[in-house]
Amino acid sequence: MIPHLPRVLVVTMGGTIASVPAADGRDAVPRLGPAELLASVPGAEHVAAVRTESFRQYPSGDLSIADVVELAQLVHKRSGEVDGVVVTQGTDTLEETSFLLDLLLDAEAPPVVLTGAMRNPGLAGPDGPANLLAALRVAAAPQARGLGPLVVFADEIHLPRFVRKLHSSSVHAFGSPNTGPVGWVTEDRVRIPLVPRHREPLCAPASLPARLPSVGIVRIGLGADPLRPEHVTGLDGLVVEVFGGGHVPSAIVDSLVQITTRIPVVMATRTGAGELYESTYAFPGSERDLLDRGILSAGALDGTKARLLLILLIAAEARTEVIRERFTAATA
Ligand code: ASP
Repeated sequence: MIPHLPRVLVVTMGGTIASVPAADGRDAVPRLGPAELLASVPGAEHVAAVRTESFRQYPSGDLSIADVVELAQLVHKRSGEVDGVVVTQGTDTLEETSFLLDLLLDAEAPPVVLTGAMRNPGLAGPDGPANLLAALRVAAAPQARGLGPLVVFADEIHLPRFVRKLHSSSVHAFGSPNTGPVGWVTEDRVRIPLVPRHREPLCAPASLPARLPSVGIVRIGLGADPLRPEHVTGLDGLVVEVFGGGHVPSAIVDSLVQITTRIPVVMATRTGAGELYESTYAFPGSERDLLDRGILSAGALDGTKARLLLILLIAAEARTEVIRERFTAATA
């Protein structure tokens, strides 16, 4: 370990990057710890003075919001001791954990770089080592400071607000459809030419209640039936993934409006990219109709991220006006 290298903490949480298959190459489960992950990365010791922490050993679908809140607290606790943090985890929920961290970590927090792998170490051409090396380079890079959490995958750097897992198996599984990557890594060089104009963390992890609100997602399809009250029993909020720029079948509007009398309802486009309209159409079930009748807009956030933001806003007891403002700010 060379003393003047940037100090990077590697926190491992399982996922494919840490998964080992059975002898026949199938049935992989997360097993590898930080030492084994780092042993697969040639040259890591020249990039950063690395220390490690094994935080979870899960397929990423088993991570909870409470786990991410605890992770944010860990990052705060280590703030003074490290220059950057790398988090390795499963790719299935990486767009969500990174977005939650973006909402929970303030400007004082060191850069947190999340990565994973699509091919486990038992397959031909595993991508974990290359992703981990690129993530280490970004976490150690001075130009990553102050940008908040970042996702590094396939040598691209993405913002949590926009990044999505877009492919089930490709090693180039992540993209940011609305913006593209903000930077990249080539050889040992970290380039981040596009920095976000602003970033607005929402709340400190310690301020959250032990019981987090429950927010559901409903995806509207052709000929969808009206929602019934029992569809939202026990929910504190609802995200509705709607057609295109903010549209639903006219036959279901009343049922959505009925739900807004009890819990906040936020609509997000189901298209995977773009921002909702506000005033292009006025037919029953149009964006104008829904907005006028109390449905809130997720703007350019997709439904998955809108759900997380709504959970934290409800946890913070935000009033409707604040919820509206925060969704607008998340898009701007
Ligand atoms: N099922 C894995 C996960 O933990 C998939 C992956 O890591 O790519 O998310």
